[in-house]
Amino acid sequence: MQVPLLDLKLQYQNLKQEIDKAIMDVVESQRFILGPNVKELEDEFTGYLNVKYAYGVSSGTDALLISLMAIGIKPGDEVIVPTYSFFATAGVVARLNATPVFVDIDPVTFNIAPEKIEEKITEKTRAIIPVHLYGQSADMQPIMEVAKNYGLKVIEDGAQAISVQYGDGRNVGTIGDIGCFSFFPSKNLGGFGDGGLVVTNDDELAHLLKIMRGHGGEPKYYHKVIGGNFRLDAIQAAVIKVKLPHLDEWSEGRRKHADFYNKVFVEAGLAEDAGKTNFDDNNKILLPKAVYENNGVKNYHIFNQYVIRVEKRNELREYLKENGIGSEIYYPVPFHKQECFKDLPSVNDHYSVADMAAETSLALPVFPELNQEQIEYTAEKIIEFLKKN
Ligand SMILES: *Cc1c(COP(=O)(O)O)cnc(C)c1O
Repeated sequence: MQVPLLDLKLQYQNLKQEIDKAIMDVVESQRFILGPNVKELEDEFTGYLNVKYAYGVSSGTDALLISLMAIGIKPGDEVIVPTYSFFATAGVVARLNATPVFVDIDPVTFNIAPEKIEEKITEKTRAIIPVHLYGQSADMQPIMEVAKNYGLKVIEDGAQAISVQYGDGRNVGTIGDIGCFSFFPSKNLGGFGDGGLVVTNDDELAHLLKIMRGHGGEPKYYHKVIGGNFRLDAIQAAVIKVKLPHLDEWSEGRRKHADFYNKVFVEAGLAEDAGKTNFDDNNKILLPKAVYENNGVKNYHIFNQYVIRVEKRNELREYLKENGIGSEIYYPVPFHKQECFKDLPSVNDHYSVADMAAETSLALPVFPELNQEQIEYTAEKIIEFLKKN
């Protein structure tokens, strides 16, 4: 049996007629950049996310970059980021000649550890970028509190977590000053190419985001500020508009698969429960836990990735590959160990949780269109391997 880590063909087949028509409508209109499709998508997102402003941008990375530009990050400024995330989270800071300052992660959620932020704040600190990794919210309440106490901006990296809520039911991305999302094809809401979204409730920041998306001209060709080409194209907007109504049902499918994996691994005696953080004889596999699951609102985990931890990770990955099962390591190298960051002061601190995650984490197939046999087969092969090793 073949179980790919991700296969988008089934999703496309299910929506093919609608998507093909939406794309052809753009082609017929010959309006490829911004325009009515992008505006309509933005209006849908302000409603869906319950936020005042939403602007389509060229990618999740550019969403982060334009946000840092809009809050005025300058060379020499420090921006706090978790050391464990996709490269873009720290890369955008460095691209502005500002300094990313790394913080270790929480051992259950893999999100920035709020209690470790304050010790990294200096007089140069300007902002924090919490990441809602794998599709689960970072613990925003203490993060917002420390940001308020020190006058820092908060830019949420929600690239893997669009539609997730937190606390009283606010959508991630709308809690900090600006929220960033990605429509990269492998995200829960993916386009047919690169795309992203920035959202904010702040009138002034909204204005800056809007004009900086088109090089900062206002009116066109008159520049008080410098932006870039951060525009979303109409074909992406048209595709995403077709997909958005299905997002919640897809997330439900991912959550069901994740629950099944967790249940089977516990029943097999390989884990006592989800959310354990240390390996021992009763926990040969550490399972992801949706920590905010029971708060009544949609503040759950949408499993953009279902990530387990095992000590013999590389051997398990090889074994799965031999058996036709795809998997991936998100992420093998934390920021503090990246060669390009080796001269940054904060790389000399200790990041034991992120180091352990980098050595042991493995993402398994969890996309909604997987069938039950594929999930069972994957779980079975993992159990087989761990009973032997
Ligand atoms: C995917 C991702 C990004 C970047 O998004 P792109 O659209 O690929 O540029 C940023 N941060 C995180 C956490 C991501 O997963």
